[in-house]
Formats: sequence, C-alpha cells, structure tokens
Amino acid sequence: MSPELKYDEWLIVEESFIPENNRASESIFSIGNGKMGQRANFEESYSGDSLQGSYIAGIYYPDKTRVGWWKNGYPEYFAKVLNSANWIGIDIKVNKQTLDLSKCIVREFRRVLNMKEGYLQRTFKAELQNGNLIEVESKRFLSIVDTRIGAIKYSIKAANFKGKLELTPYIDLDISNEDSNYGEKFWKEESKIVLENEGYLLGKTKKLDFYVCSGMKFNIEKNSIPISNQVIKIEEQKYIANSCEVEVEQNDTVIIYKYAANLSTQDYELADLIEETKKAVHGAQKLGFAQLLNEQANAWEQKWEESDIEIKGDISAQQAIRFNIFQLNQTYTGEDERLNIGPKGFTGEKYGGSTYWDTEAFALPFYLSTASPKVSRNLLLYRYKHLGKAIENAEKLGFVNGAALYPMVTMNGEECHNEWEITFEEIHRNGAIAYAIFNYIRHTGDESYLSDYGLEVLIGISRFWSQRATLSPIKGKYVILGVTGPNEYENNVNNNWYTNIIASWTLEYSLESLKKVESSSPEKLKKLINRLDFDLNEETNKWKDIVQNMYYPVSEDYGIFLQQDGYLDKENILVQDINPLERPLNQNWSWDRILRSPFIKQADVLQGIYFFEEKYKLDTIRKNFYYYEPRTVHESSLSACIHAIIAAKIGDIETAYNMYLRTARLDLDDYNREVEEGLHITSMAGTWLAIVEGFGGLRVRNGNILINPVIPDKWDSYSFNIRFRGNQLNFTVNHKTFDVTNKQGGEITVLIGENKYSIDKGNTLSLDVI
Ligand code: BGC
Repeated sequence: MSPELKYDEWLIVEESFIPENNRASESIFSIGNGKMGQRANFEESYSGDSLQGSYIAGIYYPDKTRVGWWKNGYPEYFAKVLNSANWIGIDIKVNKQTLDLSKCIVREFRRVLNMKEGYLQRTFKAELQNGNLIEVESKRFLSIVDTRIGAIKYSIKAANFKGKLELTPYIDLDISNEDSNYGEKFWKEESKIVLENEGYLLGKTKKLDFYVCSGMKFNIEKNSIPISNQVIKIEEQKYIANSCEVEVEQNDTVIIYKYAANLSTQDYELADLIEETKKAVHGAQKLGFAQLLNEQANAWEQKWEESDIEIKGDISAQQAIRFNIFQLNQTYTGEDERLNIGPKGFTGEKYGGSTYWDTEAFALPFYLSTASPKVSRNLLLYRYKHLGKAIENAEKLGFVNGAALYPMVTMNGEECHNEWEITFEEIHRNGAIAYAIFNYIRHTGDESYLSDYGLEVLIGISRFWSQRATLSPIKGKYVILGVTGPNEYENNVNNNWYTNIIASWTLEYSLESLKKVESSSPEKLKKLINRLDFDLNEETNKWKDIVQNMYYPVSEDYGIFLQQDGYLDKENILVQDINPLERPLNQNWSWDRILRSPFIKQADVLQGIYFFEEKYKLDTIRKNFYYYEPRTVHESSLSACIHAIIAAKIGDIETAYNMYLRTARLDLDDYNREVEEGLHITSMAGTWLAIVEGFGGLRVRNGNILINPVIPDKWDSYSFNIRFRGNQLNFTVNHKTFDVTNKQGGEITVLIGENKYSIDKGNTLSLDVI
C-alpha cells in the first residue's frame, strides 16, 4: 500500500507508522550514492514485513535461469544485483526487552527524506511490552563525498524509566535475495575480525568471486559525554557484532554513532581490502558524524545547483520533481564507466539491477544536461566496452561479420533475459544505443568521441541491421520481420514502424559518421577499417540501399504511421472502452487477450516521432498523437513522459500536463500499487524530460540550444538548469515572461522559436511568453 506523505518542497515526510505500508516506504525513503544503495529498513530489529536491501553497484550474481522451454541462444543466467551485508544494523534492548516496532506501541512516528542535504531521518516514541517508553531519533546517509562510507547517528532517550540499555551494532552477511531462483544464498564468509568498537567481515560471492569487506566502527555518548563501557565481542557465521550495556536514569539520552564502509575487489586488491576498509571507517570516525553530514549537505548543494527544477505555485509538483531528480542523482554519478542505471536503481530487486535500453532512451538526456559531460560519456563507454560481447551475442543468433546485437538486459555485456519474444525480437534496443551516440555528440559537441569509440559501435550495430533486414521479393523493399517493438503488448510482428525507422536511421547516421571521421581523422578511420575488416564499398552500398528502400507501414486513411503491418486488423476500440476494473490489463487479462487487443503498452510509433521529430510536419505528428494516445494504456512507466513531450509540441498543454502528472508522482502516490518492489528510477528521467523538453520545449538544433516554452495553468512559474557545452544556463518561465540566464561560460547563442539571441556570461535575456 502507499504511505501517506505530506507535501513539502524539499522533504518527503511520512507521519505515521503503518506496518502494511512498510515495504512501500522502504522503497520511497531509499538512500544511495551511486556506489551503494540502501532501502529505508530500520536499524533496530524488525520482525514485521520488510524487504531488507543493501546493494553495492556492480556486485551481482549470475543466477541460473529458470525457463519452461529452452531455446537456442538463450542466456544461461539472469544477473541480479546482490543484496549485500546489512551494515545499518543496531539491535537495541531496553531492560532486556528487544526494541521491535512490530511489537511495541508506536507513537509520533515520523520518517523524513531530506533531499536538500541527502539524509534519512526517523523519530518515534515506542512503548515496549515492559512499559518502558523510549524516544528515538536516527539519522543516516550514504556519503556522496566518500562513496565507500555510510554513517548513522542513533539516539535513544529513556523517557519513563531507569535501567539498562543494551546496544548491539553489527554487520550481517547472512543475507538472501528474495528473487533468488533456487532459494540459494549468494554470499560466503571468507574471514572476519572483531575488535572492541569495530569489526570487519570479508565476504565473497558465489560463482563470480567478488570480495567485499564490510567494516564498522562506533562510539557511544551518554548525555553528550563520550563513554567507553566494556563491550562483548560477538562472532557468528557471517555475522560480527559488539554488545555494550549502558546504565540510564530517566531522561538520559544515549547516542551511538556507527560508521560503516563497503569496499570491494572491483576497486581494491584483495590483499589490501581489509586494511583499506579499516582506513575508511577510521577516517570517517575521525571526521565525525556532524562533519561528514556537513560535507554531504555541501556536496548535495552543488548537485542541486546544477540539476534543480523549481516549480512555484504547485507544491505537489515541486516535491515530485525534486524527488525524481534526487533519486536519479543518488543512483548514478558517472564516476565509473563499469556502472549503469537499473530500472529500479538500488531500491529493490526487480529487474535485477541490470541495464536496459532505458539508459540510452530515457536517462541519458538528464545526465547530459545536469552533469559534467564525463558522466554521460561514461554511460556511452559502458556500451563501447561491451561491444565484443554484443558481437558474440549476435553470433549466437546466427549473425556474422562483426554484427553486434546489444542485450536487452545486461550486467556485463552478456544478455541475461530469456523470453524469446524479448531476447530475440525486441531488437530496437540496438537503435537506442546508436541514438545515444548521436545525442551525446550533438549535446556536448565532443566530436572526438565518434572517431575514438562511437563509429566502431555504429559499424557493429549497422552490420546487424543490414543482416536483419530482408529484401522482400513481393514488396521490393526491405522489411524487418518477427520483432517486438517498444509496445510489448504485441510480439512477433512484422515491420514495427519504430524498429524500421530506427534501423534505417542508424544506417544513415553511420554513413554520415564514416564521412565525418574520414575528413576529421583519416588515419584513425583507416586503422578502424583494417581492424574491423570493413569493406567500405560493399557494406556501405548495402546500407544505402536499405536506407533508400526501407518499407514503412502507413495508413493513408488515418494519415498515420502504422505500428506494424497487422495493426489495423485489430478490433477498433479505445482505452476508454475498457472497464476500469480490468485495468491494468497485465494484471487482469490473459496474455493471449492482450496480444490480440489493439491496446498499446507504451509509446511506440510516438517514441519514433519523439526521436526523429525534425523529419515530420506538425500535422503528421498531431494525427499520429491523436490516433495512438487513445489506444495507449501506459502500463510501462516509460510511456507517459513521451506522450507529454509530444502533446506539448503540438500545443495540447492540458493533455501534456495530465501525462506529466502520471509520471511525476508515480512512486510517491504509488499509482501502480507496486512501489514496494522499488522505485521507477529510469522513468524518473522521463519526468524530467516531460518538463524540460515538454513544457520547456528544449531541443538541440544545429549545435545550438532551442527553447520554446509553455507553462501549465496550474503553475505560477518554473525554472530549470541546463549544461550545454561550456555553458550553464538557467531558464525561468512564468505566464508572462521567460528569462534565460547565462550562469557560466562565454557568450552563447540561444534559439527561441524562429529567432537567435546572444547572451553574454552573467547576463539574462528576458522575453515575453507568446
Ligand atoms: C518496458 C521496457 C523497459 C523495462 C525496464 C518494461 O516494462 O516495457 O521498455 O525497458 O520495463 O524498465
């Protein structure tokens, strides 16, 4: 169930403890720092329903796949990000009674996610079964300054009793993934060290042998005075702890500060791992909680300076967009090209923490505009490094000559999805990877990326498309048969318009890129051609032929591009004809019925129109939008944002706003009744897109920023920040005027509608909203 949250500009606030909502709240209040993620589980014991989740980016397990009917080409495993050591744990006993919120009377419970400063806070009063009343405040964060570190301040006041508090901070590696296919546990213990007030547990994952050392160090204060009571050292299988008793009088307050670190052999030599973990926790303790938190707040201030969107006059929208931006920044920081963005980030197990086309198609523009180009370049390099595996993947399916098919779902470049209609048929994902190269270069101006990395990827993908397209003897045109488009509610269709257009566009862009590199870096091109054994004439001639003769299904009657050859054979009914009780369809209808129905899961033709908008007249865009929108059920969180952008483009601001609302508070209001599984991280980028590209009308045209803003009636104003090449710009829009401020960088030319304006550094251009 969805928790009841209060509106606030910078905070997410929950003011009561409702056990049935706990899993949902654990997702919503998750914290992360790009390297680690932690669901909002309690530090103290909790025997109620919970999804314990601590994740370390890149530490995954290839779980043996379960499948009914094995098909050649299926992957052997499904990668899943591992639920890792519980580093937050602090068991509390009050006069021998364990603090467990599912067994106490809980009052004044309040959980706050402070998005401005990057921490999670929880306060409550609990009356234990023995009548003892305690007042608790816990604060914790995962540092974005030192991404190895997590810190907790946990304070307990003895409100109505005197006696003994027993505190047991621990690290527990006896952890499982709920989504484990065979109920197996994935961690083994390698070694452990338990000292006074500190401890280290070295774990190793099964199969892939990732080693992770989780360390902790703590100190305790009573009434603000440090105490050093004797501790009992506890060692069990996959578990280390210290237990410490503190005598309290009524109204005494005891605080434990726990500093933890998780270091892995991804970044350190095994021989140094424990020592480096020690250094990390010692360093954190030396700085102290207040200083660490201060640094955290400063670092978040900088992130917000670049990425904030301010909305005035609609607090619910304000809170929602900040939540989306906060979670995106918590998930990916772009420091490590081996990492990527799972659809649920680090907030749950669904989708295994793996990479999907979501990254290139939805998330990339957010990072392009709000972070250093290095961040988005690393997202691209991730795929570049996986090119070899994409070629192997295509070979498994029978393709030759260096054709590359990137996986639908991956952790290390290998495909790990095994539904034939997706693994083998949802090949449009290959196009999104090519499109991302184009998008990155047009936004950053980093042309060298093309000759150094991009072109090689484009050649691999184009070789795939040129083999996957068939020259139809009847049509005399190239067709692409047996595919699944973005709309996964039809499979094995012929000539999905989106797939055909992105395939042909990739070939065209690859041809253009070859020319560019030929003139900018002829030596590099020569080497690449030799290395790839690329037959410049023969291969490019075939590409040109496909581009010129690609078949696109259309309906002259409706004036639209047809989603696929057989789409008009389907029953002509609309979403409004469905009994609302039968929604969402994927939870109420048989798969057979869904596949035969005309209902569209997510933007498909419209996804193509979104990517290639410049090719189409406004009237064509309008006709397609009004045909497909009433048939789209938006049962993927990636859908409404694209519809919002197109609706804004054709001037239908009301529909754009309604579409925007569906994405913005998807998780906060738990529209799909599934937030307990984790947050929709990649679709959060879609929300950002809906504002910036939808209402803001932001585009890149011929190397310039183009803006065409509109504003929803409900808002007084909104403002967003964009990094573009060397500049940082702020756009502020209200109902009368809009301002463009050149915050950083030299003079810049901005296109507004049909006109060009130059803005000097530090200057603001003010114009009337038309
Ligand atoms: C969508 C895909 C998406 C995946 C992960 C599915 O429901 O249909 O387009 O890649 O979720 O977000």
